[in-house]
Amino acid sequence: MRRPAIRLEDERRWGDLRAEMVERQLRGRGIRAPEVLAAMGRVPRERFVDPGMLSLAYDDRALGIGGGQTISQPYIVARMTEALELPRWRVDHGDETPKVLDVGTGSGYQAAILEAMGAEVTSMERDADLAEEARQRFANLGLRIVVIVGDGSAGYPDAAPYAAIVVGAAAPAIPDPLPDQLALGGRLVAPVGRREHQWLTLVERTVEGFRREELEPCVFVPLIGRFGFAEA
Ligand code: SAH
Repeated sequence: MRRPAIRLEDERRWGDLRAEMVERQLRGRGIRAPEVLAAMGRVPRERFVDPGMLSLAYDDRALGIGGGQTISQPYIVARMTEALELPRWRVDHGDETPKVLDVGTGSGYQAAILEAMGAEVTSMERDADLAEEARQRFANLGLRIVVIVGDGSAGYPDAAPYAAIVVGAAAPAIPDPLPDQLALGGRLVAPVGRREHQWLTLVERTVEGFRREELEPCVFVPLIGRFGFAEA
């Protein structure tokens, strides 16, 4: 379908598309947390997609960002963010700023949504070029997100414990080192399963131990690393 081009500077038009995305793709599919809807309504997704795909920025799908990687579908970003329950963390911890680890920076969109939720975000990316592009984007948008180049399948103990960990790439199992990097009451969301198809899986750290729940089916690019898949 051909659509009229919108210039990147045309913020009103983008704002309208963003509001429509929030209504149809998110609220319409059961995303309820007001903080998540507000964050998704604020972050300019058009700044995170490949310039050649600008007109598809608010489509109901993942988009290529180069190197065979993707920026996730808006709905799945919202679903993962909602499952982390960051607003509840704040309530339970006297309004303390939640620290969040984002594994698989990619475009940086998920990290930016977490930042918009008021989190202190550390994001890990194995591809140095993607990491650098994301750093540039964050700088242009004035976002304070730390990007670390490395294997996020082992997490990032230096900044642990985290209120939440979100993994934006598929793993054969919950990467072993990650749950231990959660604070008590912390939540981790990751796509777990086979290379072609996974279940969005939630792990919560409670006083009794780790509680695990499968949320819904999903498809992500593979997490490549020590506690992920082997390079294809
Ligand atoms: N959250 C991203 C989507 C990421 S796509 C966004 O919002 O745009 C998955 C990303 O994970 C890719 O950029 C890929 O390079 C990265 N990745 C894969 N394995 C990784 C690993 N072991 N550690 C860190 N990043 C990894």
